[in-house]
Amino acid sequence: MSTIAPSTDTRPMRFFRVQVAAIQNLTPSFRRFTFTGDDLDEYGDPGFDQRVKIVFPSERLALDEMPTGDDWYVEWRARPEAERPPFRTYTTRAVRPAVREVDIDMVAHDVQGPASAWIDRAAVGDEVLILAPTVHAAGVPLGVDFVPPATTEELLLVGDETAAPAIAVILEQLPRTATGIVVLEVPDDRDAAYLPPHPGFRVYASGRGAGERHDHLVRVVEAHAGVLCPDGRGGDVEEIDIDHDLLWEVPRTAKGGAALKSAPLYAWIAGEAGAVKALRRHLVRDVGVDRRAVAFMGYWRLGRAEGS
Ligand SMILES: Cc1cc2nc3c(=O)[nH]c(=O)nc-3n(C[C@H](O)[C@H](O)[C@H](O)COP(=O)(O)OP(=O)(O)OC[C@H]3O[C@@H](n4cnc5c(N)ncnc54)[C@H](O)[C@@H]3O)c2cc1C
Repeated sequence: MSTIAPSTDTRPMRFFRVQVAAIQNLTPSFRRFTFTGDDLDEYGDPGFDQRVKIVFPSERLALDEMPTGDDWYVEWRARPEAERPPFRTYTTRAVRPAVREVDIDMVAHDVQGPASAWIDRAAVGDEVLILAPTVHAAGVPLGVDFVPPATTEELLLVGDETAAPAIAVILEQLPRTATGIVVLEVPDDRDAAYLPPHPGFRVYASGRGAGERHDHLVRVVEAHAGVLCPDGRGGDVEEIDIDHDLLWEVPRTAKGGAALKSAPLYAWIAGEAGAVKALRRHLVRDVGVDRRAVAFMGYWRLGRAEGS
């Protein structure tokens, strides 16, 4: 029987070279990739919406082309664009250190970029690199933006399909006594089955069908936010130009903890920037939700590649 030598690398964040061990179609749009790798027992699992970067190989650029040292980003940026292996952002869905496995759930959408191209043709045995925290990361969890106050009466979790894996982990990890609402917009009605149940949450999930992107999110949030936060006082909200700037507001203390100790409502809103912008305006300006109790992450933009 072969044994794997324990890793001597104690960096808090690093690249893991992993192979696809299994691919499972969960619903029409969600595909689960189970990755395995000799050192995945070192993969950190801070939980909730833990984001990671995945480097995808292409016909032109093999994974070995990716700089993976501590200055990887500086080195990567210094190269001509055609020589930069592409990476995209995903969410850790599950970690099983004992069997050295990690699950990442990816939306199979039209092939438009390096991630969707890889998802479309990936097979067992294919390799990617995952940049993730390790078990040596201490203190504030790296890449986690769900930071609710210690006490909240209600939670509001809102997102499109790209946020669904994070919402799923959040629902699984919250105490069973937590209460709130999930509003999810997915490509197909059958994708609503993706979310795990939670006894304290009402889920408003809808397929987009022929409808406009964001319609469902905006309509349902507008119908419920005032009830969840009845005493809010409208506040100013500066507009963000989502075609040029990133809409990413995650209130925290300097040490990375929740900005408030308690709040009637904590909202976590993630997905395509157009929807997040509309919801931010509504929640802060119209409903008067305290900005320190809302995480807004408009992290992808229709018609724009990540990082462009
Ligand atoms: C913090 C964070 C966590 C994320 N977690 C996940 C996750 O767990 N699972 C997941 O599937 N995605 C997740 N995403 C979204 C994922 O990073 C993007 O969908 C990614 O850009 C797709 O890469 P690509 O190479 O296919 O397209 P890109 O090269 O980035 O873009 C090319 C084109 O495809 C469009 N496009 C990108 N994504 C989609 C989409 N989903 N549907 C339709 N059109 C799209 C773009 O608007 C652009 O026009 C996350 C994003 C962030 C920032």
